[in-house]
Amino acid sequence: MSKMSSLFRTRKKKIYCLDDDLFYLAMKENCSFHYKHNKDYKTLLDRMHFSPEDINSYEDLEKIPPLPTLYFKHHNLLSLKSNRYWVKATSSGTSGKNVSLIGLTFTDLLRGWDMVRRVFSYHHLWSLRPHRYIVFGYEPHKGNDKAIAKTAHGFTFLSPALSKDYAIRWTKDGYKVDLDNLEKKFIKYSKGKTPIRTLGFPAYTYFLLEQMKAKGIKLKLPKGSVISLGGGWKSFYKEKVDKQVFYDLAYEVLGVDDKHIFEFFGAVEHPILYTDCRYHHFHIPNYARVIIRDVETLKPLKPGQVGLINLLTPMSVGTPILSVMTDDLGILHEEICPCGEKSVYLEILGRSGVEDIKTCAAGAEELLKGDKS
Ligand SMILES: [Zn+2]
Repeated sequence: MSKMSSLFRTRKKKIYCLDDDLFYLAMKENCSFHYKHNKDYKTLLDRMHFSPEDINSYEDLEKIPPLPTLYFKHHNLLSLKSNRYWVKATSSGTSGKNVSLIGLTFTDLLRGWDMVRRVFSYHHLWSLRPHRYIVFGYEPHKGNDKAIAKTAHGFTFLSPALSKDYAIRWTKDGYKVDLDNLEKKFIKYSKGKTPIRTLGFPAYTYFLLEQMKAKGIKLKLPKGSVISLGGGWKSFYKEKVDKQVFYDLAYEVLGVDDKHIFEFFGAVEHPILYTDCRYHHFHIPNYARVIIRDVETLKPLKPGQVGLINLLTPMSVGTPILSVMTDDLGILHEEICPCGEKSVYLEILGRSGVEDIKTCAAGAEELLKGDKS
């Protein structure tokens, strides 16, 4: 079995015990694969004077040139012939422009499935008990390739679903946001016994809770109900609230305490499932690593320092997403977390100071600009 596949079969109990040797070997294997099969990627690495042969230890991983997420929005960087792809996912840009195209092969999906199965089982999210699903995201529709829609839809299969309701519904005029419908559903379902699971954009969840609070609505969702958040704050950064404010609001309006609130994190350019622990920290799972880089020099920073988030994973042979540079700021924490997990955890600060970052991401893209832009 390839090192890449063994990494994604990390035993459930070991998800947050990082095996650095296996990780770097899998990264080297992945880098060599793309170098061999993807002319454009080879050209990029050659131009940066980097070869997969340069990866000889875990410490060498920081030398792999990170590709900015912006780069995937402007270039088709697929490594294989089109018939090898089972899924082509795009990021959640709203206009149809500026979206990344990431192709995953059957083996990529198997690796993804190995990961998702174990992470959900580790966090006790599989259940045989029926649930009602309330999704703060897109209703599935055949024309919707957004990864976030696919992920949200997948989530509704974690337990038998008695019902599925969506915040962004498909109508004859396209997608429409309909939070009022979800408010009615919350009120109706809170009178029953079937636990509710919500998933989706934190911003929509927050807006609806605020709206319900303003009307003086106070519910107690059935025992076992879970609120889960994922998909980031998108264009609602200004509305971004402190996590504790959100937890208090959820308790006040829905009667769900923060032990039953989960947050997920992932990106189309980095399809790794990060789940927060009981203390709401995103511990790094064995499938990925995070390097925080200086905003100006892109040099790796120490834990505790703020910089750009660089995400690494050898998951995909379909697309060279082994090292991607986001335009989000973050910090790695190596303090001991009371939850007991040993791995460092990532705090995502979002895009504060977005102007500087834009310049930097654009600058990094400049660096990579080849003949085929
Ligand atoms: Zn923790």
